[in-house]
Amino acid sequence: MGRKILIAGNWKMNGLLADGTNLAKGVAEAAKKLGKPQCEFLVCPPFTLLTSVKKALRGAKVALGAQDCHFAEKGAHTGDISPVMLKDCGCQYVILGHSERRANHGESSELVNVKAQAAHAQGLKTIICVGETLAERDEGRALEVCTTQILDSVPESSTWQDTVIAYEPVWAIGTGKIPTTADVEEVHKAIRKTLAKKLGKSNANRMRILYGGSVKPNNAKELLSLEDVDGALIGGASLKVEDFLGIAQNAGVC
Ligand code: PEP
Repeated sequence: MGRKILIAGNWKMNGLLADGTNLAKGVAEAAKKLGKPQCEFLVCPPFTLLTSVKKALRGAKVALGAQDCHFAEKGAHTGDISPVMLKDCGCQYVILGHSERRANHGESSELVNVKAQAAHAQGLKTIICVGETLAERDEGRALEVCTTQILDSVPESSTWQDTVIAYEPVWAIGTGKIPTTADVEEVHKAIRKTLAKKLGKSNANRMRILYGGSVKPNNAKELLSLEDVDGALIGGASLKVEDFLGIAQNAGVC
């Protein structure tokens, strides 16, 4: 289907001005040496580093994203950041519904949906995260949980151009554990089928579905060679230039 591979780094709550800027410069330099046309790089630093990372990425083919946003444009929302503000900082992407936000901030799929609509209205692309807990997988409910999250979190107006899905099993995040390739492929296929029902076949076939959860250079090849895996959302390994770019390189896609 010719979907462009997306290699996305989620820095989470890591990075101060000096090391965050250095990391971005390192990614920018390394991406210049790779960068096949069918591959896209993205880094999502904390809000505090967006402006300096944007500067550090100047001239490199690496997109900038944030890790969350509010649904309102502005106003009395202490501590929140709006999609308009993200655009103003030079962001092209925003991650929404990460399991850490769902768990630590009680974010529901309905809230993720409203945030995604607000982000799209400002021209931001969203990376909408879904994934089951270990208990849900053990109960045989992984597909049901992920497809329900897709149905509730993805706005009806979404298109393949403005939306990316990330399948991130909660139990695989930061643990070094990954599902079998058969399990990854099964969930990705179920997600694409659900997207087809909701957004139509054409959108579903072109929409990118990333895998996230303990992706490292040594497991990237087998994960990224799966038919329905269109890239990776990378946490821990995105904090080291050699690991982040090593994932793209070892996967042979970039
Ligand atoms: C994440 O939190 O999005 C993630 C995938 O983390 P890690 O790669 O560290 O498992």
